[in-house]
This record gives sequence, structure tokens and C-alpha cells, in this order.
Amino acid sequence: MSEEESLFTQSRISPPDLTCPRCDNLLPSGLGELICIMCNAEVKIEHEVTRRKWREERIGCPECSKVLICGVDKRPANLKCSSCETSFEVKALKPKAEIDCPSCNRQLRLNKAPGTREITCPACEIEFKISF
Ligand SMILES: [Zn+2]
Ligand SMILES: [Zn+2]
Ligand SMILES: [Zn+2]
Repeated sequence: MSEEESLFTQSRISPPDLTCPRCDNLLPSGLGELICIMCNAEVKIEHEVTRRKWREERIGCPECSKVLICGVDKRPANLKCSSCETSFEVKALKPKAEIDCPSCNRQLRLNKAPGTREITCPACEIEFKISF
């Protein structure tokens, strides 16, 4: 199946923001075995509350809009609609962060990911660095 033909929907539940116990940088969003991209430490993260919310999350079928109880306690998850039998993927919610442009103070919404990135403000076109 090619990328644009595959049906998916996005989870609305993300695990809590956690920092690496070794280097104190933001860990990639997820549960289970995670690798800190800053220091390469292997960290095992469990969060029962998130697992339960994932299992109980109501997901709308992207094909027929029927609302399904996910039943799977991980993201991404593959589901099959009980009504139209379409298979689709429930993708992990990418955490977002809101930051202010240091030049024009416009609020920008970014994917919150570990590491340092260069951002160009769409309003004033200034470049600046951001790290989480
Ligand atoms: Zn680390
Ligand atoms: Zn369906
Ligand atoms: Zn700006």
C-alpha cells in the first residue's frame, strides 16, 4: 500500500512530556523503550494512565465515520472498522509547543521534538534557534 492511499487518523492522547534521567533533555514522545537523541541513553518509560486512555480512546473510522473504541494500548495502532471493515492506522499525536518569535513576538506552533532546530518566522522571516 502506498503512503497516500493508506487511511489513518490521529490519536488525541499523547504521553506526558518526560526528560532523560541522564542528560535532562526532552525525550521523544512515546512509551516503552525510548532512546534519548541527545545522549543515546536507553530509557524505559511506562505510564499506566496513558496506556488506559489509549485503550479506551474513541476513534472515528476515516472511511465511514463510525466511532470505535480503540482497544489497543499503544500508538501507532492498526485498527479494523467493525462496520465497513476498512483497516486504518491510528497515529501517535505529535506534541506541539507554542513559542513566541523573539523578533516580532508572533506566536508560532511547532512540533515539540528533542534537539535544537532553526526556525524561520513566517511573519518577519527572522531565523532563530530553538531547543526543547
Ligand atoms: Zn539523555
Ligand atoms: Zn468504517
Ligand atoms: Zn517574527
